[in-house]
Amino acid sequence: MNSKIKILIVEDDPQIRKLMVTSLTAQKYDCITAVNGEEALLSVTSQNPDICLLDLGLPDMDGVEIIKTIRGWSNMPIIVVSARCEDTDKIGALDAGADDYLTKPFSVEELMARIRVAIRRLSAYAQSETESVFTNGNLTIDYAAGCAFFAGNELSLTPIEYKLLCLLAQNVGKVLTHTFITDKIWGNSLDSDVASLRVFMASLRKKIEVDTAHPKYIQTHVGIGYRMIRQ
Ligand code: CA
Repeated sequence: MNSKIKILIVEDDPQIRKLMVTSLTAQKYDCITAVNGEEALLSVTSQNPDICLLDLGLPDMDGVEIIKTIRGWSNMPIIVVSARCEDTDKIGALDAGADDYLTKPFSVEELMARIRVAIRRLSAYAQSETESVFTNGNLTIDYAAGCAFFAGNELSLTPIEYKLLCLLAQNVGKVLTHTFITDKIWGNSLDSDVASLRVFMASLRKKIEVDTAHPKYIQTHVGIGYRMIRQ
């Protein structure tokens, strides 16, 4: 399966680029590389990669602009790889449409784990196009009937909890920022909504997590947002 996955690596640092190519090739992924934004956009249109690993700090273009451009026509998973450690950069990239982020320096294991998540999202996306029922581990959402089940039992969810669960499910594998979620749920994103979001998320977790101290389905990204994990 891995041999079918083509990964575009956009990175201007030759050492990091080489490390990525070596480790991904060892895992039998197809790799193509770009050293700046112009090359990256050209590769996306001409070579049709499945996944993009994108450095945010490029010599010719801001990575966030590249994400916005790609999102104009493609839903491919984009994993931002950035040396910037500020949360605002990650949030900007995620809000522009990136799926996930990796902060330099990263381990090869971490990189591989993120790629596996992106691949699961690729197949989940293909599935969600055709199916009106979402399944993830013990969790099932019947979109047509407007209800959700855990281990076969119907969940008693408030309308906001249900909306929240559907939003996370429709973006399974993708990190959603607080702003993105509150925008979708309440139509705006005031600071007070982020506080409410935390409360709704806690009550939703009580209904779908066996151990809320170690959530399996909904992962918290402190200061950034939440992600549903594909089981
Ligand atoms: Ca760079």
